[in-house]
Amino acid sequence: MWGNMGPHRLFLIMVAAAFLVMAAVKTVSAAEAVVTDARVGTYAQATRVVLEYSKPLTFTVFTLGNPSRVVVDMPEVGWRLPPRPLPKRTGLFDKMRYGLYKAGQSRIVLDVTEPVRIGKAFVIKPDDGHGHRFVLDLVRTTEAAFLKRLKGPALSVTAGGNAPAQPRAAALTVPQQSAVQPQPAALQSPAFRLAPRKPAIRPHAKKKVVVIDPGHGGVDPGAIGHSGTYEKHITLVVSRELKRQLEATGQYRVLLTRRRDFFIRLRDRVQFAREAGAELFISIHADTIKNRSISGSSVYTLSENASDKMAAELAEKENKADLIAGIDLTHETPVIANILISLRQRDSMNQSARFAALLIKHLKRRTMVLRNTHRMAGFAVLKAPDVPSVLIETGFLSNKTDEQRLRSRAYRNKMATAIVEAIGAYFLQVEEATRR
Ligand SMILES: [Zn+2]
Repeated sequence: MWGNMGPHRLFLIMVAAAFLVMAAVKTVSAAEAVVTDARVGTYAQATRVVLEYSKPLTFTVFTLGNPSRVVVDMPEVGWRLPPRPLPKRTGLFDKMRYGLYKAGQSRIVLDVTEPVRIGKAFVIKPDDGHGHRFVLDLVRTTEAAFLKRLKGPALSVTAGGNAPAQPRAAALTVPQQSAVQPQPAALQSPAFRLAPRKPAIRPHAKKKVVVIDPGHGGVDPGAIGHSGTYEKHITLVVSRELKRQLEATGQYRVLLTRRRDFFIRLRDRVQFAREAGAELFISIHADTIKNRSISGSSVYTLSENASDKMAAELAEKENKADLIAGIDLTHETPVIANILISLRQRDSMNQSARFAALLIKHLKRRTMVLRNTHRMAGFAVLKAPDVPSVLIETGFLSNKTDEQRLRSRAYRNKMATAIVEAIGAYFLQVEEATRR
């Protein structure tokens, strides 16, 4: 997605994204290090990645397969990269993403063109007008050696406390054998299996619990629009407005799966809704699709079989979010291939379909909707067996008009109002059904 863009387009993206959602931008605290540059070049046999930053940091580096990726983790940092495009494909490097992985941890994911191993990884102290630098050399390796290394521990790279400043030539190299750090437990978790639902603590018993899920975030930007709008920013502003309007009715307790620009795994979004005792789960998106003429909002529910090619394409794209964020999925059940649907899930699916119908009715009144608005596919994020769940594509960022609409606060507010009306109508239906 990023690889095909010219430098001019990328520059626009960065500028546009910076202007779009000022409110969502977290101010970098004084204590936080700031990454000020990212460069990639070829150097002898290696492809060298250099990060420049403002304060000493410890990095953890590991590789992932299928597809080949290199992940660089660090404590939470701010990002002030120069206003030029991110590094372009060169040597073994294809493209990169960066952002908050979770509170306290930032991440860079490097997509590589071939299996690689970490040749060298070291840090350099500030000198010659340069800040702190982290240098990572990637070297070509065989598929077999690459796969073998995947099982090895991650590499930890640090400047080593109060070590005196060293000349550039004597930069500190930390070999793989020393200072190893195991991968975080979250990265080793097994198959996509849901834990039993915890009894929800419900202090506001009378209020309906609605969980809103702003799609993507952090290291996963989601789709990038025609003139550079980031999906992850749109989903967050729409979700916040929806929460505001829902709470204003006094009838709902509203929780967001994320309130800032960070990454969450698909399964954790589902689990969050279940633990919160959600009576409704709404995942908000604004994707791109191949056909750029397609526009309007649309609503999706879970199904074993996709209702159409477009819904299948969207689900496939959405289900890749964990992979984009640098998560090892090799030991996980492919979530797309087989969505097992239990009886309990069947009931939630019927509820979801009812809610979807109401959503469409209300969205039609206030926003532009796509024809055949209710579509179905195997979205992993809609898999909670006991929570009625829908995914709303608020529009398509691949369409110029939709992108303009979604950048308009007035349009987003109208959309939120339509969703609030649909939620009200849905709970009324549920109450009437139980009274009978
Ligand atoms: Zn999306």
